[in-house]
Formats: sequence, C-alpha cells, structure tokens
Amino acid sequence: MERARLRLDRRRILKGAALAAVPYALLPDARAGAQSQPVDHRPAEWQPAAGTNYTVSQRPTTHSVDLVVVHVTQTTFAKALAIFQNPRKKVSAHYVVRSVDGHTAQCVRESDIAWHAGNWDYNTRSVGIEHEGWVDRPAYFTDLLYERSALLTSSVCDRYGIPKDRAHIIGHHEVPGTDHTDPGPQWDWVRYLKLVNSA
Ligand SMILES: [Zn+2]
Repeated sequence: MERARLRLDRRRILKGAALAAVPYALLPDARAGAQSQPVDHRPAEWQPAAGTNYTVSQRPTTHSVDLVVVHVTQTTFAKALAIFQNPRKKVSAHYVVRSVDGHTAQCVRESDIAWHAGNWDYNTRSVGIEHEGWVDRPAYFTDLLYERSALLTSSVCDRYGIPKDRAHIIGHHEVPGTDHTDPGPQWDWVRYLKLVNSA
C-alpha cells in the first residue's frame, strides 16, 4: 500500500501544473485507493469524517458557499480527527489545521455540508476550518498555523468567489445562536486577514 501510494504521488507530480485546473475528482488516479481520496485543497491530507457526521450535498450547485467559519478545537489535532471519525459524535468540519506545523487534514468534501457551526443555515453556506488549540492558550496559534490556514482560507475564497473580509471570514462565536466562544480573543484577526489577502 505504501509503495502504491508513492507511485501515485509520483504520477501526480509528473502530471504537475498542466492539470492544475482540472478538478481532482475528474482524474481517474484520484480514485485509485483509500489513501488517494481527492481533496479540495491540494496540500491537505484526506482524513474522512464518518459518513453519519455530515450531510452529502452538491455545493455550490445546491447551496451557494459565501462564508468561512474559523474554529479552535479545544482538543488536540489527533483527538479532533478521532471525534469526526466517531459515528456517534454528530459533528465534523471540512478541515483541521495542526498547531506545530500547520499540517492540514481534510475531513469532509467542500461539496458536502459539515456539521460545525451549530446552525443549519450557516452550515449550508460555509466551509468550516478547525485549528488545533485552546481559546485561552495562544501559544498554539503558531506562525505556521496562521500561514497554512490563511492559504487554505484564501483558496476557499477563490474557489467560491467569497470576499476576503471579516464579513465573510467569521469566527464560530459570530454564528447566530451559538454559545461557542472560539476562536476567542487571542486569535489575531488583523494578522489572519492580512495573510489571507496576501496568500
Ligand atoms: Zn467552533
């Protein structure tokens, strides 16, 4: 399996930029095995959530996507992935970004509706990005976490024509009806928006 994956990676590299504009799902190789599931954001690793933890959809055909919701996990990267993979948890996000190096996992396809905002309307309209850390432990918000997350948010905005501003890139705490406080007052929005706009 490891060898097959390496071969697949090499094929992808060889195909390179010429296919950059082709959606991954259209490439036959992208469906060749569990490890090669297509991701919407190329640097991301596919770590699928349990099928019972999100709603299959065909966005942006079924629902337009006009928001990015920023979260903080309040647990570790590994435990966040485990929660999304647990079919009893009824929760998911499209992406989880790791603190130490900004490594990004994709758990739900962007065409599907992840259950992260606690508000159905906002779930249907948004891409949810979890960041490893705690709202009161800003040391988890590393340079690499900000940079890689900003790259991801910028690419999401580009895919759906979402303005790269605070009206469209919001915190979980700004979702109507929520009692969540993430990403919390330690999250540097000015820095984040600057990075998103320069990515
Ligand atoms: Zn949240």
